Amino acid sequence: MIVELVSVGTELLLGNIVNTNAQFLAEQCALLGLSVYHQVVVGDNEGRLAEVLRMALGRSDVVILGGGLGPTEDDLTKEVCAKVMGLELVEDPHTRKRIEEYLKGGIFKEIPDNNWKQAMIPEGAIVLDNDNGTAPGLIMEKDGKRVILLPGPPKELCPMFLNQVSPYLKKLQPDVIRSQMVKICGMGESQVEDKLLDVIDRQTNPTIATYAKTGEVHLRITARAADEEEAKRLIKPVVKEIRNRFGDFVYSVREDETLEMAVVKLLLKYGLTVTTAESCTGGLLAGRIINVPGASEVFREGFITYSNKAKRKYLEVSKSTLKKYGAVSGQTAREMAAGGVFAADCDACVAVTGIAGPDGATEEKPVGLVYIATYMKKKITVEKYQFKGNREKVREQAVVKALDLLRRSILENYR
Ligand code: ATP
Ligand code: MG
Repeated sequence: MIVELVSVGTELLLGNIVNTNAQFLAEQCALLGLSVYHQVVVGDNEGRLAEVLRMALGRSDVVILGGGLGPTEDDLTKEVCAKVMGLELVEDPHTRKRIEEYLKGGIFKEIPDNNWKQAMIPEGAIVLDNDNGTAPGLIMEKDGKRVILLPGPPKELCPMFLNQVSPYLKKLQPDVIRSQMVKICGMGESQVEDKLLDVIDRQTNPTIATYAKTGEVHLRITARAADEEEAKRLIKPVVKEIRNRFGDFVYSVREDETLEMAVVKLLLKYGLTVTTAESCTGGLLAGRIINVPGASEVFREGFITYSNKAKRKYLEVSKSTLKKYGAVSGQTAREMAAGGVFAADCDACVAVTGIAGPDGATEEKPVGLVYIATYMKKKITVEKYQFKGNREKVREQAVVKALDLLRRSILENYR
């Protein structure tokens, strides 16, 4: 079922307010498995609103309009919609009574005449009572098309949608939509898509969508089915196939699990303690690990060794290594990782040293050059990266790669 969202209000066109209603409604429609192909914003103008509505009715099954249901002259959504759909406006005694009750004892001694305008409804329309304002919401049905009108203020629109419109739409489309996440690290988005091209092309239900995050790619597998069980049954083989193709590149199949959570989970599983030896990331890496509840079980201390002197003092990186290869080198990264394990007396260390920029680059060592090393079970693994982007981006990517190298090293050494 195709839904079109129409936001009515000159304020929106002028950029005076942010269209949060459209975001809310779009998200809710997606949850209900409804397809939103168009969103339109139109001013409080009779001709243009009528034009937008006619266009929407031509290409969508349901049109949801928000705004312009107020009592004043410039609020004309209902009037225009009734006209376009060829419906007369008639007074609804129930709504008249509700408005009276709602405004009684309020700021008005006498209820202003123009409020009664809100009791007029298109003949045959379903009335949605407004618990947070006077304007009722309305659902009109004609020739298989549905037009839903909602008041503009979010505190009126949102509860009305959740309590009354959502159940109505669910009845029109009883299917459930369920999705499952597969999170991949260590591969770019295009690489992931390449490896999945045939699966993506083949699938219509479930569908696979890819999202690129910093250093990660998330795949969302979404199925439409008659019930929850059926949706799960459709999703399962696709997740299995993806796992087969990507192996350890998949770090989680849970929506709420971050990379650092997966790392802490592995450390807990194998009863390992870890430390960090950071230069250019300056504590960001330790911060990400400590963000995870329960990290105290696996992490006791970390080292921020920004200067050469600090690298020597805390991690015992040798003077000759620093002199011969420089602070940003595979050799220094190795010694940082090994030094960290001994200094903190733990099972594993992940070390990062690099050039975040904008200064500090040389001909052979450009901005974005980062070495990451892990030490565990007396084994050192070093990886070299050349990241793109500004200082913040380089540091952020370095943290993700460090977490991922730690994760892969644990799997390699302890699984
Ligand atoms: P009212 O009875 O308050 O006039 P209404 O149904 O006529 O309600 P509008 O006049 O279009 O709705 O908007 C009223 C207020 O609701 C706006 O001033 C704005 O604060 C908020 N609003 C309207 N549309 C949106 C939107 N799309 N996103 C966020 N807020 C909105
Ligand atoms: Mg208004």
